[in-house]
Amino acid sequence: MRILRIRKRALDKILNLAERDYPNETCGLMLGKFEGDEKIVFGAYETKNANQERARDRYEIDPRDYLKAEEKAREFGLEIVGVYHSHPDHPDRPSEFDLKRAFEGYSYLIVSVQNGKALSYRSWTLVDGKFLEEEVVIFGF
Ligand SMILES: [Zn+2]
Repeated sequence: MRILRIRKRALDKILNLAERDYPNETCGLMLGKFEGDEKIVFGAYETKNANQERARDRYEIDPRDYLKAEEKAREFGLEIVGVYHSHPDHPDRPSEFDLKRAFEGYSYLIVSVQNGKALSYRSWTLVDGKFLEEEVVIFGF
């Protein structure tokens, strides 16, 4: 299984944002490093959900936010390694829509929020057009 290592503080931030934005989807970018098949996430970069009409079950990240996040990452010698978003009252599995929009190489961390509580999360990566689950390993504080 592939591994997504994520700093505890970054994960906590993502879970908090997922709860804050409920019943809408929250979304943002994960900043870190690629190490072979592994990704190491040091920070979560919050973005707006550019899809306001279907904010409850869709997310869209403005290309300008990708650029801003990339700049921020570069300041710290990091890069964008993936995308996080939440599924309000839905499981932490990627939707067909998520599959269509995913880029190979990135990790997709999905948080399931039930009744306003972030209950679970799983990470996925696209390989040959299919999502494979990654093991999420938390480190640091
Ligand atoms: Zn989704």
